Amino acid sequence: MDKDTIISLLKQINYPGYSRDIISFGIVQDLTISNKQILVKLNLQKDNKDLENIKNLIRNSLNKNYQNFDVSFEIISSDKANSKSAEINALKKVKHIVAIASGKGGVGKSTTTVNLASILSRKYNIGILDLDIYGPSLQMALGCNKKPLMNSENMLLPIDSHGMKTMSFGFINDESAPTIWRGPMVSRMTEQFFTQVDWGELDILFLDLPPGTGDIQLTLVQKIALSGAIIVTTPQDLALLDVKKASDMFGKLSTPIMGVVENMSNFAIDGKIYDENNNLVNGKIKINDKFYKIIDGKVVIDIDIFKGKGGIDESKRLNVPLLSRIPIKSELAEATDNGTPYVLMHKNTHIYDCYKNISNIVISQLGL
Ligand code: ADP
Repeated sequence: MDKDTIISLLKQINYPGYSRDIISFGIVQDLTISNKQILVKLNLQKDNKDLENIKNLIRNSLNKNYQNFDVSFEIISSDKANSKSAEINALKKVKHIVAIASGKGGVGKSTTTVNLASILSRKYNIGILDLDIYGPSLQMALGCNKKPLMNSENMLLPIDSHGMKTMSFGFINDESAPTIWRGPMVSRMTEQFFTQVDWGELDILFLDLPPGTGDIQLTLVQKIALSGAIIVTTPQDLALLDVKKASDMFGKLSTPIMGVVENMSNFAIDGKIYDENNNLVNGKIKINDKFYKIIDGKVVIDIDIFKGKGGIDESKRLNVPLLSRIPIKSELAEATDNGTPYVLMHKNTHIYDCYKNISNIVISQLGL
C-alpha cells in the first residue's frame, strides 16, 4: 500500500452532486500513512455542508480496501473569519477574498477574472478589485468609464458594472499617472483600496493581481486574509516554472491554491449537429483517430495546437488541480474589447461551460 494507490482509490469518489472526482477538485491536500493509520488532509472550509458526506465516502472506500487501518481526517483550510481582514472595517462584510494571479502578463488573467466573476454574479454578491496598477484593464473589459464617488464618510463607492461592485486604479487616475508611481506609493494606494472603499456585503471579492509572482504581489496581498488563489497560465508557461513560483508565493501566505486555469490551451469548434430530418443527433463521431461525443446534438471538437505536456499532466505533477482548459476564441477577445463579458452574451457555448465549471469548483471549495 502506498500513497499513489490510495489516491487512485480516492479518484473514484465523485464530489457529491458533481461528475468530477474529489482529487481533481483539489479536496485532498495530502495524506499520510503510519502505524495502521491513514490520515487524510482535506482542503475544505470547516462549515462546508458536504464535509461529513465526503468524509463518509472516503472512510467507506478506505475501510473496504484496508480493513486493518484506522482512517482519520484533518481539515487544512483555515476558516476565513480570519483576524487580518476582519480588522479592516471595509472588508468586515466580505465573506471571501480570492486572488487571481499569473506569472506574466497577457495570459488571460483579467479575462478569467471578469468571466468567472460575471457567472458567479448571477447568484452571489461579487466584487472585483483590479490591482494591476501598471496596466489596469477592468475599465475596458467591463465597458465602464465612470469615476467613483465618495460617501459622507469619505469612503470611495465601488462602481456597479454588470451587477458587480468594481474598483480599479484605472477609475481614479488618468493614464499617465501610474507609470511614475514607485513601490511605497503603490503599496499605500493598494491599502486604501481595501480600507477606503465601501465594499459592503460581498460573497466573494476577486483581486486581479498584477502579473508576476514576486515581492510586489506578496506585499499587495499580505495585509488581508485570502480564502484562496487561482493561477492563470498558458500551456507553454504551465510547463515552465510559473505555477511552481505562484504556489511558492501563496504558500508563504498560507493561502490555498484553488487551481490552475490553462488559458488559450487549444482550439475548439463547438456547435450542434442535426440529422437530415433536422433532429438533434446523439452518439459519437470519429475524426481521424479521435472520437467526439455528441449529446443532444452538442459537440466540442478540440484540437491541441501546442506540443508538449498537456495541462492535466503538468497539474498532476505540480499537485495543483486543473480547473479548466479554455480554448482560444476570437469572440472572447472581442467581448473584452467591447466591454461586455463573454459569458453574459454567449450562454450555450463550450467556453461558457468552461467558466461555469470553474465557478462550481470555486463555490464548493469556498463552501458557499
Ligand atoms: P492578462 O490580464 O493576463 O494581462 P488579458 O486577460 O488582458 O491578460 O488577455 C490578454 C489578451 O488576450 C486580451 O486581448 C484578451 O482579450 C485576449 N484573450 C485572453 N484569453 C483569450 C482566449 N482564450 N482566446 C482569445 N483571446 C484571449
